[in-house]
Amino acid sequence: MFKKEIFLCSISNVSSGNCAEDCAYCTQSVHYKTNVQTYKYKPIETIISEARNLKSYGMLGFCLVTSGRGLDHEKCEYIARAARALKDDGLDLHLIACCGRADEDSLRYLKQNGIDSYNHNLETSQSFFSKICTTHTWEERYETCQNALRAGLGLCSGGIFGLGESWVQRMELLDSLRSLNPHSTPINFFINNPALPITESVMSRDEALECIIMAREYLPRARLMIAGGRELVFGQDQRDLYESGIDAIVLGNYLTTKGRTPKDDINELQSYGLSIATSCHN
Ligand code: SF4
Repeated sequence: MFKKEIFLCSISNVSSGNCAEDCAYCTQSVHYKTNVQTYKYKPIETIISEARNLKSYGMLGFCLVTSGRGLDHEKCEYIARAARALKDDGLDLHLIACCGRADEDSLRYLKQNGIDSYNHNLETSQSFFSKICTTHTWEERYETCQNALRAGLGLCSGGIFGLGESWVQRMELLDSLRSLNPHSTPINFFINNPALPITESVMSRDEALECIIMAREYLPRARLMIAGGRELVFGQDQRDLYESGIDAIVLGNYLTTKGRTPKDDINELQSYGLSIATSCHN
């Protein structure tokens, strides 16, 4: 049966590329020649105008994403400034920061400056992580998620499927996520890129739906958000997603790839009889 309401979240790539880490699924790593656009900090006025535009389509959650291993002092100040400016603009958004590894004090500082939740994905299972990244550990990812919770932030944590992991490792990831009890879980499907070392092809629609159904079973209370790979795996007919347990989507563009237009997504949701959530608190 369909969920009645779908939550619309958007992401803004506020600091792009040039990342020294070697995550094998990520086009922002300097280890791979992917030619993504790179810039250090997006101007705050640009972030505000993106937010105003997406809010006009019903976006409730807005996530400020930076590339790189973690939240250093300069980045923390920049995100705090952006958060204050967004709150001052009166858009009434749920603000999320996604800046990699972070300690509890920095996360508390972000909260004091208007950030409501922190996004840090476990990405994959503990037992598979070393196959997709050698420059940092799964354990430090888990620790950052714990820091976000200790700092009093909401936790948004999920992963990416289709990297070559087994079904047992998918269950292992979901079990770890369950232990963190995130309020929101993004589900991504790997997008193949010839410049990346992972050679897995696009996951089939049926396998992807199995992953979503399993995630819903493991995380019955989390808001399950379909993120990267939605268009590639599900094409134009995305009805099955919502029947399988998805209750949030990324509206607009992704970090380094274009999404559909917000209008197309909203028309499609309405054609399935779904409504757009109007508050983050239900
Ligand atoms: S740390 Fe983040 S930005 Fe850097 S390569 Fe890994 S996923 Fe990409």
